[in-house]
Amino acid sequence: MQALVLEEKLKLSLRDFPTDDRLGAHDVRIAMHTVGICGSDLHYYLWGAIGPYVVRAPMILGHEGSGTVTEVGSAVKHLRAGDRVCVEPGIPDPNSRATRLGLYNLDPAVQFWATPPVHGCLRPSLVHPAAFTFKLPVNVSFAEGAMVEPLAVGMHAAAKARIRPGDVAIVIGAGPIGIVTALAALAGGCSRVFITDLIAPKLEKAGRYPGITPVNVKQQKLTDVVMAATDGWGADIIFEASGSEQAMRGIFEPLCPGGCIVFIGIPAAPIPFDICAAQAKEARIESVFRYAHIYPRAINLMAAGKIDVKPLITDKFPFKDSVKAFEFAAHMPPTSVKVQIEL
Ligand SMILES: [Zn+2]
Repeated sequence: MQALVLEEKLKLSLRDFPTDDRLGAHDVRIAMHTVGICGSDLHYYLWGAIGPYVVRAPMILGHEGSGTVTEVGSAVKHLRAGDRVCVEPGIPDPNSRATRLGLYNLDPAVQFWATPPVHGCLRPSLVHPAAFTFKLPVNVSFAEGAMVEPLAVGMHAAAKARIRPGDVAIVIGAGPIGIVTALAALAGGCSRVFITDLIAPKLEKAGRYPGITPVNVKQQKLTDVVMAATDGWGADIIFEASGSEQAMRGIFEPLCPGGCIVFIGIPAAPIPFDICAAQAKEARIESVFRYAHIYPRAINLMAAGKIDVKPLITDKFPFKDSVKAFEFAAHMPPTSVKVQIEL
């Protein structure tokens, strides 16, 4: 079967690739329809590694996917052939301690698509556990279905923040994850969200959503803006979605006493932060690693019209131009947010 294969760093090919596609009793076979390109796919393409995960053998890329069920295993009850679905890309060991505790995203044995050596979903067909395959409502398109994966990260962060109705939040970084985190925070009850970046077109895109106030930190000091808007109290929640060392400096300044900060962005290297500043506000510090138990909630919010990811899907390529899609995404103009490939 044809697949988009990362042969090694900077070398992609669309070629025939042998895969093991045996259908188990609890599996479904899915004809893939739409796959989004994620920052991690690009990172493997450009650098051949993310931290300890190194591409040592050809690997199929892609983990943000939606498609149609074509066959179900004998024990599958909740899905049938013809169902439109989106697919959660991490498969944990069901018997692991982390999974039994409900923390399946933290299972050290989790098999996550397009994280070496596990193959991703940029191929016409694949087999996946039915338990990690979710039916799309009629009013959610395949393109939106493929956005559930990145949205799930923002939703997980919003859940970790334990938002109370009316909270004011800050999202640092207006990339795809920053924007979906802002949307998740609003859907979760925040009254308004300030989003920061250095790149004007990204902020402009984010600022088109009602409830999101863009702050260009090249021109304005975030703390000044937030303090002015909150009678000098500060924001209840800060979502760090940039992973940048620069953003870490003074990160507790715009936070209110007793506020919460959630670390989402992954810094390229360890970075220092000011514990004393955190203590002075008794800041609650949370972190996220992907997500768990979030897909149905993300789909529900999309179906209810409370989260609209459509404006974020900016570029589409057919599967035959997958390599071109990656080259485009690697040098994406700042007006683009999410590049998707249609099979
Ligand atoms: Zn992703």
